[in-house]
Formats: sequence, C-alpha cells, structure tokens
Amino acid sequence: MKCTIENCPGEYEEKNIVHTVKYKGEVVVIKNVPALVCHICGDVLIEPGTIQMIDRILNNKSKPELQVPLYDYYSYIR
Ligand SMILES: [Zn+2]
Repeated sequence: MKCTIENCPGEYEEKNIVHTVKYKGEVVVIKNVPALVCHICGDVLIEPGTIQMIDRILNNKSKPELQVPLYDYYSYIR
C-alpha cells in the first residue's frame, strides 16, 4: 500500500513495532505490535482491530511481562 504522507513515494510494509502509549499519565510500552510502516518516511499505521486489542491490553491491568528503564530527557538538560 502506498504511503499516505504527501509527496512520499514510499510503500507500507508489515512490521512488528515497539508501541509506546500514555495511559492514565503513565508511559506504557507494548512490543511486537503488528503495524504498517513506510520504508521511506517511517510513517506508522496501526489497524483499528489492533488498536482495539491495545485498549484491551491496557484496560485489563494484567502484570506486564517486563518492566523497562524509563529515562526523562528533561532531567539531563536542566
Ligand atoms: Zn512515507
């Protein structure tokens, strides 16, 4: 499928991405999310069904598989 970004000649390809979302003020990271990624500009499309699944993951409050280190850029530039 052709990229939807204006003037980008790229095509979307299926990839598993690391998706970062803000949920109730917290940063949540979900890996292996299927998405379409433009190989030129990097634009990411996530299908509606996948977004519903992400909502389900966020809402069910299960224990995450992993905890990841989280750095705040602002802490280093003050
Ligand atoms: Zn593109």
